[in-house]
Amino acid sequence: MIIEARKGASPEALEEALDLLRRADLDPKVVAWNERTLIVTDRKPGSVGLAQLAEIGIAERMVHPTLKAQLASRDFQVDPTVVKVRDVPIGGDRLTIIAGPCSVESREHLLETGQAVRKLGTSMLRGGVFKPRTSPYEFQGLGEEGLPLLAEVREATGLPVVTEVLEPEKVDVAAKYTDMLQIGTRNMQNFPLLKAVGRSKMPVLLKRGMAATIEEWLQAAEYILLEGNPNVVLCERGVRTFEKATRNTLDLSAVPIVKRQTHLPILVDPSHATGRRELVGPMAKAAVAAGADGILIEVHPKPELALSDSNQQLSLEEFARLIEELRPLAEVVGRGIR
Ligand code: PEP
Ligand code: MN
Repeated sequence: MIIEARKGASPEALEEALDLLRRADLDPKVVAWNERTLIVTDRKPGSVGLAQLAEIGIAERMVHPTLKAQLASRDFQVDPTVVKVRDVPIGGDRLTIIAGPCSVESREHLLETGQAVRKLGTSMLRGGVFKPRTSPYEFQGLGEEGLPLLAEVREATGLPVVTEVLEPEKVDVAAKYTDMLQIGTRNMQNFPLLKAVGRSKMPVLLKRGMAATIEEWLQAAEYILLEGNPNVVLCERGVRTFEKATRNTLDLSAVPIVKRQTHLPILVDPSHATGRRELVGPMAKAAVAAGADGILIEVHPKPELALSDSNQQLSLEEFARLIEELRPLAEVVGRGIR
């Protein structure tokens, strides 16, 4: 149950309501939500509690979402959320393209990629400095030293930047140099990390866990929302299946399901979903057709020399061609590219 407090409700009235809910064993959580105060509980209230709440006169609205991720649900909010990353909106009537290298490799490398993707119609730049690698012998990213490079290239190109964080302790420093924090597939259920990015109030790109159901994924988003951070963008990046022809299996049906169930924007990452350069374009097009709010693509000036995910990164030429192919398709689905 979500109780939306009246604007200007007194702290005393709020405390009285909380007291009542606590006595009814409803474990209420208070959430500051876009200048409103919400009281959220996942327990079913007894009729006594509700009548008394009405008497206190604190509630402007009470919602009983059927979805476990209550704040993410359409029952709570009908209008789609548009997350603004600096001046770039994600969600709404146009598609957002985020592109850039898997890993930030050097200043020159990031600058070259950033300038090129900006010219080709990209709205945001991506690049990892904390890299979650399967093997400890593989390139682990530049680490904290890479963060100022992201800030520098953001200034040079005007593109807001998104980067992955792996630990709660690095959230503050990553937030200082970037515009959006990514939670990778391997950390989708790292609850201390979800809470930390929630508290940061930064826009968050929440990737789906490689073995997570949609329901689990949305509950991970709920952890962030419950910290009073409504700026969550979901990203489908494929899940593990028996199929070995692709790195993961892109679950495109997640897009319309998430759109029906929640108000959150959703992007698709065909790079990690397929792991194969030649499949990135077809799956990017399919994502646009399925109603995604945008796509996240790995691009590298020399993919064959990339320090990570070499097989799936598009060259600048391949990326340019893909964007041109996506334009008319985006128009057909009534969106257009931002
Ligand atoms: C990435 O975006 O670089 C990444 C590691 O993605 P994922 O968490 O989806 O594997
Ligand atoms: Mn990658």
